Amino acid sequence: MTKKYVYDFSEGNKEMRNLLGGKGANLAEMTCLGLTVPPGFTITTEACNRYYDENESLWPELLEEVDMHIKEIEKKLGKKFSDENNPLLFSVRSGAVFSMPGMMDTILNLGLNDKSVIGLSNSTNNERFAYDSYRRFIQMFADVAMDVPKVHFETALEQMKEDKKVELDNELTAEDLKDLVNIYKKIYVEETGNEFPQDPMLQLKYSIEAVFRSWNNPRANVYRRLHNINNSLGTAVNVQSMVFGNMGDTSGTGVAFSRNPATGENKLFGEYLINAQGEDVVAGIRTPEHISTLHEVMPEVYDEFLNTANKLEEHYKDMQDLEFTIENGKLFILQTRSGKRTTQAALNIVVDLVNEGLITKEEAIMRIEPNSLNQLLHPNFDPEQLKNAQLISKGLAASPGAASGKIYFHADEAVEAAKKGEKVILVRQETSPEDIEGMISAEGILTARGGMTSHAAVVARGMGKCCVAGASEVVVDEAQKIMRSNNVVLTEGDIISLNGNDGSIYLGNVDKVEPELSGNFEIFMNWVDEIRDMKVRTNADSPKDAIQALKFGAEGIGLTRTEHMFFSDERIPAVREMILSKTIEQRKTALDKIRPMQENDFYEIYKVMEDLPVTIRLLDPPLHEFLPTNKKDIENLAKDMGLSYDEVNDTVQDLHEVNPMLGHRGCRLAVTYPEIYRMQARAIITAALRHKKEGRTIKPEIMIPLVGDVKELVYVKNEIIDEINTIFEEYSDSVEYLIGTMIEVPRAALLADEIAKEADFFSFGTNDMTQMAFGFSRDDAGKFLGEYEEKDIYPASPFESLDQKGVGKLLEIAVENGTKANDKLHLGICGEHGGEPSSIEFCYNLGLDYVSCSPYRVPIARLTLAQATVKKQNIDTGHIDK
Ligand code: PEP
Ligand code: MG
Repeated sequence: MTKKYVYDFSEGNKEMRNLLGGKGANLAEMTCLGLTVPPGFTITTEACNRYYDENESLWPELLEEVDMHIKEIEKKLGKKFSDENNPLLFSVRSGAVFSMPGMMDTILNLGLNDKSVIGLSNSTNNERFAYDSYRRFIQMFADVAMDVPKVHFETALEQMKEDKKVELDNELTAEDLKDLVNIYKKIYVEETGNEFPQDPMLQLKYSIEAVFRSWNNPRANVYRRLHNINNSLGTAVNVQSMVFGNMGDTSGTGVAFSRNPATGENKLFGEYLINAQGEDVVAGIRTPEHISTLHEVMPEVYDEFLNTANKLEEHYKDMQDLEFTIENGKLFILQTRSGKRTTQAALNIVVDLVNEGLITKEEAIMRIEPNSLNQLLHPNFDPEQLKNAQLISKGLAASPGAASGKIYFHADEAVEAAKKGEKVILVRQETSPEDIEGMISAEGILTARGGMTSHAAVVARGMGKCCVAGASEVVVDEAQKIMRSNNVVLTEGDIISLNGNDGSIYLGNVDKVEPELSGNFEIFMNWVDEIRDMKVRTNADSPKDAIQALKFGAEGIGLTRTEHMFFSDERIPAVREMILSKTIEQRKTALDKIRPMQENDFYEIYKVMEDLPVTIRLLDPPLHEFLPTNKKDIENLAKDMGLSYDEVNDTVQDLHEVNPMLGHRGCRLAVTYPEIYRMQARAIITAALRHKKEGRTIKPEIMIPLVGDVKELVYVKNEIIDEINTIFEEYSDSVEYLIGTMIEVPRAALLADEIAKEADFFSFGTNDMTQMAFGFSRDDAGKFLGEYEEKDIYPASPFESLDQKGVGKLLEIAVENGTKANDKLHLGICGEHGGEPSSIEFCYNLGLDYVSCSPYRVPIARLTLAQATVKKQNIDTGHIDK
């Protein structure tokens, strides 16, 4: 039997997403639920892949299959495709497995030609409507299928309006539109060298090819990269019989969410336009009406729509995003899908759904994408500063957050400015998919036109980026690079602030404050913690970081990088003095300056963390980070050390390393200069003893970095223990402590069994481990890793997402051999990967005791671990197919 590539909507269901794409699968599901969906069929994603395999061409059997399905629809509707009397017309839309809003192209009114336009006019008794549809079709087809720039048609339309002395499109008469159709056809010939195709099957063939091609257009590629969507999935094509929202005042079209996508409020939310086609709503050209007013305009249609939305929500057990058209008072549903929403809304919705008994806590946990919590964890405007901020205008609160930056009016200029390190606000009349890179680079997005479902709003929400849309009082002149609002005129580079929570636009910068995490976020995170069975610590180098991390739910510190404590202006001279010392006496003098500061640092951190574990890592600076580089610093240092400029300068040159990351750092420093780690161990222990005196129990965890061999560890450890024992004698007091090591040199992972016998804990330093396993410099690889991702050599930067195959194998060896040799060994990870969801899941399955990550990632790690726990439990109880 030949393979089936085309499915009627009545043949599919929502489980067939991979084959039919999201849109196709949902259209099929709704058809089977008995909703009023205009009949149609879906050409599968497999057909898309075969199209590429066949050198971007459609094969004859596919077109036969398509033809067969058209005939069936003709039968169902009693109309004929492109008929001269009562023509059946189609829309052609892409539909990928994962929704990619605005990324792919759509063609409407397909099947119109010089004859069927007369049929449409007769059957609808509306000549104006028929020719308006025809001219729209020519433009869309030319643009999408033939790459003819839209501007040619737009200019012709403007010219026609000028000639006829009218302002609005709908003031043009049927005769004007007929003329316009002829002009459009001429443009088509000029631009493509061919007549506009009159054969509807040819129109359809070109359109299907165009949708398949659009899978690979640059903006679709960018979107996929941004959202980690596999390039090989392909898109389906949905061919659906047309219904018309632009047939007069009892027709209309709209988009609506079953709940509010910005706040989660359980109330229909959306907008519609009377006498319009779907594209008019999304493009933001006319300002739509709020859905609630449909209740007055067409009460029956409204009630039917409300019921449908509720029914679909219950069926999918999730908030739905619906598209609908009303044709002469009859409601048609054109699309449903899980609605994109802000994280705040997502949380409110899942908490409500649990309370409504529609889903379980576990399901709720699985529905929130861990990284999306980022949206909630970032600062809002300082309310005090806001009181004095100058409000210049207000738009729609399209996507929450607070953003300040210099305004840029074009996506490419925004990208350039952001590359130079500027904070950028992208200001546009309205955005289109071509603006995607500018939107990614911007802190926030402001548009003058468009509603809550406009491109800017939908895409910004998906990115978790602050967006104020449809600020209708703001005049944006993109060509002149000016925005005007009331009396304020701003040009490129001026600073504004946007509040995506209420739509306010302020002049200048407004400071931000940390968010308060309460309400449903707290309820949700409590569920997360009930389910999660692995700890989350934080990487924190100061009491301030530690406090923030505690607020976010950290259960200890997994890494305090002591070198970071030394970068402040008052401290760095003493550290440089220590590094540049030629004699042990000199070094001890410098260390004596540093020790009290260190003791205090540790004392303060312990104080914040109370009885939670704190791992302090001994000094690990690649030396170049501390060496003075300019003449003035060297002069000052020479003065402090009582040496000549030349003496100090010579030492600086001596210490210069070609590969500082592989240089004299970590425990290697202590092999040469044990007094450095002795000083730090002393500061750690004396700080703990101070707490003990004050009635608190602190059990320090001392961590030795960059160990590559057990003998290295033993040497350094013995020095530390000796120092600690001396302190205990001096103080006639003692505290319990642990000494462990980072596992970050690949050799240490391979020899973990030997090392584990001498360590209380291992903490995986996957930053260095990645650097050394790949041989990629941490400091430089960013310059070329992008190419590796683009060329699919490595799926993502291994510095961001743990390379499970290679580096992961080193971790597995270390865990297995380490725990065999020492069954009391504690295990954690403190490399950046400890805050990245896929890496965290890997660590969970590896059986580590904790992950440690930066404070802002703590909630993300908590949620990821809860999800990993749910997944594991489901696998154990057989709910999920492995
Ligand atoms: C690591 O290497 O993963 C690590 C945590 O240490 P650092 O980043 O300080 O080298
Ligand atoms: Mg390291």
